[in-house]
Amino acid sequence: MPSSNATHPQKNSNISAQTREIGRSLDQRELLILRAWLLLPWIALALCCAFMPTEALRPERGGIGMLLAGYLIGGIGFEMGYHRLFAHRSFEASAVVRALLVIIGSSAAEGSIFRWAAIHRRHHEFSDRPGDPHSPKGATWHGRIRGLWHAHLGWMWNETIGMTEYLRVTDLIQDPVLYRLGRVRMYYLWVALGLILPSVLGAWAWGPWTGALRGFLWGGILRLLLVQNRGFAINSIGHTFGWKTFDTKDESRDNPWIALPTFGAGWQNTHHAFPSSWTNRILWWQADPAGLVIRGLASAGLVWSLRYPNTAQIQGKRVPSAGHPRSTFR
Ligand SMILES: [Zn+2]
Ligand SMILES: [Zn+2]
Repeated sequence: MPSSNATHPQKNSNISAQTREIGRSLDQRELLILRAWLLLPWIALALCCAFMPTEALRPERGGIGMLLAGYLIGGIGFEMGYHRLFAHRSFEASAVVRALLVIIGSSAAEGSIFRWAAIHRRHHEFSDRPGDPHSPKGATWHGRIRGLWHAHLGWMWNETIGMTEYLRVTDLIQDPVLYRLGRVRMYYLWVALGLILPSVLGAWAWGPWTGALRGFLWGGILRLLLVQNRGFAINSIGHTFGWKTFDTKDESRDNPWIALPTFGAGWQNTHHAFPSSWTNRILWWQADPAGLVIRGLASAGLVWSLRYPNTAQIQGKRVPSAGHPRSTFR
């Protein structure tokens, strides 16, 4: 992947034809579809609860297994790919790994990689200040509750993104693998594939109609519900509850309760302190499943150039009161 400044918009006005094309492709229709896909899993969950006695909707015979497998693959893939590799450029990866990760990330139906990375880079640039697209910050208790809703899902109804935002991701647009597989048209295909694949698997395992419906619901729609809310919980809970290990000048928090289910992203304060690090495991006891997979791929030679802060950088940002024994660095 070509290297460039990953967190700041390109300063000159020389917008490439590719960037113009990506920017233009974002229209109201994409935003409407994106919002619909965020609500659909909740509707499916309600229907599942209401019609659970129906044989096709019952989770037994592998439904739960399919849901958990989809959550593991989708969640770790999203955290590794969309977040650490593409948005933060915290390591380099082969074309095959980049292709797989953009497909897995797209299947979460949270927007194309260009849109998601542009918004995420804005989040880091303005973290919990005016300009942050999804800060839960609120001065009063009811302001905090409203802020939690805004950070979790509400911001999707206030979001605006234009050509300026795409200038934040010109480095990603220049990557031929991402340009080919990450464009909106292809993104819809990967979202569909994330629903078709479990349906086909279900039909193969449990019979054509009942099995396909069970696979679609548990491996497709309900998997979306878990993967999407994994990410939204980082924005809401990860910027509200927990402690600060590092002085980041924002409201990001380290929260062990969401660290595992978010595959390492729940160490949000550590991540904001060192956004370009390939792992959020700065302290020896921090669990970081996505980081473990990245290390495994590095051992196999499929990813390389892993970026990590040095000891002086870590010590320099440490909050003095975080001097308890658990804060021994790894
Ligand atoms: Zn954050
Ligand atoms: Zn980040």
